[in-house]
Amino acid sequence: MPLLLLTNDDGVDAPGLKALAEELAVLGRVVIIAPDRDNSAASHSLTMRRPLHVNELAPDLYAIDGTPADCVMIGLAKILSTRPDLVVSGINPGPNLGDDINYSGTVSAAREGTLLQIPSLAVSLGAANGEECRYQVAARQAALLAAEVLTKGLPPDTLYNINVPNRPAEALKGVRYTRQGRRLYENAIQETFDPWGRRHYWIGGGTPRWSEQPETDVQAVLAGYVSVTPLHLDMTNHQALAALRDGRER
Ligand code: MN
Repeated sequence: MPLLLLTNDDGVDAPGLKALAEELAVLGRVVIIAPDRDNSAASHSLTMRRPLHVNELAPDLYAIDGTPADCVMIGLAKILSTRPDLVVSGINPGPNLGDDINYSGTVSAAREGTLLQIPSLAVSLGAANGEECRYQVAARQAALLAAEVLTKGLPPDTLYNINVPNRPAEALKGVRYTRQGRRLYENAIQETFDPWGRRHYWIGGGTPRWSEQPETDVQAVLAGYVSVTPLHLDMTNHQALAALRDGRER
């Protein structure tokens, strides 16, 4: 029976994690190893300046007072007795599209799995702020893709970044394999003042605007498709590298 490590960046109590655990249970044994609280936008950070504590909440359910990447790293090395067949991260309540992948704890947990040479998936729901999340629908889609990856595997050093539109199942148009899109510049820093008149800055909020280029994750989700972007660990710009080596214009 396949062993699946399930994690997220929203914390062990998040409803997206629960929905995904239920759907993945049909594929194998699911062990949840997740941060004990919300770690959204933690990216790929590791906790190195304090010790980490693992809390076994129930059989196959662990909370760690660390980041999503900590959970995958500690989970593989110290909690699981055998290597998992799959690492799944999510379901994040908001989308992880385009440039936002760089900040995402959800995607980074899957990237950590890939670094440790386990096929890994990140799953996010394309829900806008305040919108009711259709986790069940996204969990079903994720489980279908997980089943496929369990049998076929993934290309080397590659993870799937999956984004599911927040729609009823019958309104989904299918799966599209996509490239990473771009977020347009947006000033999402709020300026606030505390009771003593001191100025502060709060990152976040605002409504993201996207460049709707063809074949991208952004465009697929807007059009009602489940977007699957194969992300590579190698961030080298190979075209630029070749040009640099040839001494050509770039
Ligand atoms: Mn999150």
